[in-house]
Amino acid sequence: MQRKIKEVYTLIFKISERYGSECGICLKKMKSAKSGFTIHHLEYRWGEKTHKDFTSREKYYAYLTPIIDQYPDAFMFLCNACHQSLDGPRGLNRRKKENVLRLFLAVMNSKGKEKQ
Ligand SMILES: [Zn+2]
Repeated sequence: MQRKIKEVYTLIFKISERYGSECGICLKKMKSAKSGFTIHHLEYRWGEKTHKDFTSREKYYAYLTPIIDQYPDAFMFLCNACHQSLDGPRGLNRRKKENVLRLFLAVMNSKGKEKQ
């Protein structure tokens, strides 16, 4: 079991190298084959399988690797926290895009304390 988990991280780490091994949003670095990162689809191609079609993450990432090699711009490499912000249960992808745009404008126009 341990070995299987490690193999999926090795696959993700290898994929990450195409994206500078950093989260496309917060720039957090994946320094080794460990948990905490994933690949996000910007676009699915017709007929492409999803994670639901596979019995393990490892098999899914093995399937995805050649697709990522061929269409790197259809994906983003992300840390799990940023991915949750997009696709999680309360993720922004569940909201209307126009509302997300207004939300971003509200954030940018908010004069409260700024985080560094
Ligand atoms: Zn991130």
